[in-house]
Amino acid sequence: MKRLEGKVAVVTGGSRGIGRAICELFAREGAAVVVGDISFDGAQDVAAQIVKAGGKAIALQVDVGDKEQVAKLFQTALEQFGSVDALVNNAGINRDAFLVKMSEQQWDEVLRVDLKGAFLCAQAFAQACMARNAGGTIVSISSISGLRGNIGQTNYSAAKAGLIGMTKTMALELARFNIRVNAIAPGFIDTEMTRGIPEKPREIAKSQIPMGRIGSPEEIAKVALFLSCDDSSYVTGQTISVNGGWYM
Ligand code: NAP
Repeated sequence: MKRLEGKVAVVTGGSRGIGRAICELFAREGAAVVVGDISFDGAQDVAAQIVKAGGKAIALQVDVGDKEQVAKLFQTALEQFGSVDALVNNAGINRDAFLVKMSEQQWDEVLRVDLKGAFLCAQAFAQACMARNAGGTIVSISSISGLRGNIGQTNYSAAKAGLIGMTKTMALELARFNIRVNAIAPGFIDTEMTRGIPEKPREIAKSQIPMGRIGSPEEIAKVALFLSCDDSSYVTGQTISVNGGWYM
């Protein structure tokens, strides 16, 4: 039995990196996947690959920081598939700078996408689940930076720590509606977001990771699957670190 058979999953930022790996794994596990991304072409590519492999998926363009676009995302998902059962708040950006040099724009952009975007999606998702009285799961992709901080990431670590607090409150509020809410805090994962990091800091980071290597998007996807299916039926309000032992 596939673990998400008959379920509908909305994954934001699903066109590449961790989001893409989550879309592909969820589809292989039987979910109909709504690939939401600011880049429609990228989302369409992922959805087309899933359909070609025999799965179910649609691509929708969404800027998660825009309430109207988020409402449209869930409305279209419900029209197409009749329900939404799992949400993965994965869309995220970084705009790194030292605190003393960080512009207000860099702060606002990151908080808007990484934190407000997750709030808007979680709110629309919870409303849709409660209207059907059907339960559901929310997984938000936080970060090791939200747990221990990271030089140059005042904005990003604030947003990612905010997601952890938000996860706990949403878990408290939504438990009685059978909606479980959890977060994942990845360490250093090989995606476009981290590929720009120069060789020297990459090697320093690797030398600090007990497992001695960078993680793959698929290793995050497997934990997102666990938290989105019945294998984690008694888990809520948690943040699971997936970081090769880098921070514990
Ligand atoms: P990525 O490769 O940069 O992918 C992020 C995706 O989000 C892209 O497809 C991007 O679209 C999309 N996106 C950006 N702004 C959006 C918006 N306003 N609305 C909807 N979609 C938007 O990043 P990743 O490394 O896979 O990261 C995925 C998540 O994991 C992020 O939340 C990130 O903070 C978190 N994370 C990553 C790492 C890591 O080491 N990679 C570690 C910890 C946490 P475009 O392609 O058009 O930009």
